[in-house]
Amino acid sequence: DRTFFVGGNWKCNGTKDSIVELIDQINEGPSIKDAPVEAVLGVPFPYMSLVSEKLRDDWQVSAQNCWTGDGGAYTGEVSVDMIADCGAEWIILGHSERRHLDVLKETDETIAAKAAYALGKGMKVMYCIGELLSEREADQTLAVCERQMQALKEAVSDYSNVVIAYEPVWAIGTGKVATPEQAQEVHEAVRSWVKENISPEVAESIRILYGGSVSPGNCDELSTKPDVDGFLVGGASLKPDFLKIVDSYK
Ligand code: 13P
Repeated sequence: DRTFFVGGNWKCNGTKDSIVELIDQINEGPSIKDAPVEAVLGVPFPYMSLVSEKLRDDWQVSAQNCWTGDGGAYTGEVSVDMIADCGAEWIILGHSERRHLDVLKETDETIAAKAAYALGKGMKVMYCIGELLSEREADQTLAVCERQMQALKEAVSDYSNVVIAYEPVWAIGTGKVATPEQAQEVHEAVRSWVKENISPEVAESIRILYGGSVSPGNCDELSTKPDVDGFLVGGASLKPDFLKIVDSYK
C-alpha cells in the first residue's frame, strides 16, 4: 500500500519572517506522526537550515535542485552533501521550470544524472515529469512522460527512495487544474509504463503525485483517484491552509 504523500514546493518565494510565520502555523496543526501521510516542504536553499530547525519532526524538508556530483570548483552550485547537512532528506528534480525556462533548460540527461547521484548519497527524490500545453494538444502527453521516465530508468536502478510527480505544465500556476479523470489517465499510463519497463513491484509501490493548481478546494476529489498517491503543491503550499491539502489523505 502506498503512503499518501504531500509535497509543498515554495519555489523562489519567502523571507525569513514569512517562513517563520508559516512554520509556526504548520507546527500548530495536528501531528501526522502516526498518520498514513508524509508531508514535505520544498524550501529555497538559504532557508533550509532554518526550516529544518524549526519544523516539527513529523514533517520533512526538501531542496528544489542540486549539483550533479561532488562539491568542488562549481561556483554557485549546491551539493547533495550540503543539502543533507542542512537537514533536508528530499530533493525535487526535473521541475518543469528547470526544464523549460530559457535561462535553465535542464535536459533529461542532466536531471537523471542528478537523481542518480542524489539517490546514491542516500537522499530521496521527487522526480517531476509532464507535458507542455502544445505537447498535449499534439497528443504527445504520454510520449513526453515516457521519454522523461526512460531517462530516469537509464540512470537509476533502485526506486525505493523515488516518488514521481506528474505536473502538466499547462496546469502549473494557471489555476487550470487537471480534472481528476485527466490526472488518473496519465498516472495510470505512467504506472503501466513502470510495470512494463521497470518491474511490477516498482509499479505497485512507487508513488505518483499530481501537481498543477492543487488547492484546498480540489484536492479531495483528485485524491479519490486510485493512481493519485498525493500532490506536489506550489502556490497553495505558501499558506497555512496547505494543512487542508495534507489532510486529503483521509
Ligand atoms: P502550483 O500549485 O502553483 O500550480 O504549482 C505546482 C508546482 O509547480 C509544484 O511543483
